[in-house]
Amino acid sequence: MPVLVFDLDDTLYPELSYVHSGFRAVAAYLSPLLRQPPEMLAAGMVAEEAAHGRGQVFDDVLRQHGRWSKTLVAACLRTYRQHLPTLALYPDAERCLKRFGAWPLYLVTDGHKEVQARKVAAMSVPTHVRHAYLTNRYGRHRAKPNPHVFELICRREGVLPTQVIYVGDNPRKDFVGIKPLGFRTVRILRGNYAHLEADAAHEAHRRIHTLDELTEEMVAELLAS
Ligand SMILES: [Mg+2]
Repeated sequence: MPVLVFDLDDTLYPELSYVHSGFRAVAAYLSPLLRQPPEMLAAGMVAEEAAHGRGQVFDDVLRQHGRWSKTLVAACLRTYRQHLPTLALYPDAERCLKRFGAWPLYLVTDGHKEVQARKVAAMSVPTHVRHAYLTNRYGRHRAKPNPHVFELICRREGVLPTQVIYVGDNPRKDFVGIKPLGFRTVRILRGNYAHLEADAAHEAHRRIHTLDELTEEMVAELLAS
């Protein structure tokens, strides 16, 4: 039986919703310290992220209130990474996981392993997939584009790479490592990379705008190609 594998961030849920969930946790932590309402602090962080990205958000909020220190920035970062996020799957992701509910489904995601594990748990991903592979658990060098965990999936299911489809959003790393081995790939055009033009090696076999486009017909066609 063919195997469907999904990326997590910006494929199954909007990654920015995790960032905002983390900001709310940090705002709650800083609120008594800065004597400001948490909603106001969180709104400031959301605005700062939208304007300049997430790199300096905690430095900025502390500086604005005259409380910047290395220790407090580190405490914010820890609060952010350790918070239990409130997240929801994209509605089309929810429908897709249900539609292919009888198939062998897997998840493959890079990133901080505890953070990714909390995201996976928050969205009940384990109820949908046979296993969620957090590449970080196998060493940093096993992050995408390294094909290691994809090979583990083949072994576990007793299938060839040509029977496995990976759905991801990031043409920089999601497809380039596994395509030469025969894995089939589908790129979902959303998130930060939606508008990135990729060369032939980095581009997926198919491009879709929502997971509703991933049908049994499309899968059959992809596997036959
Ligand atoms: Mg992604």
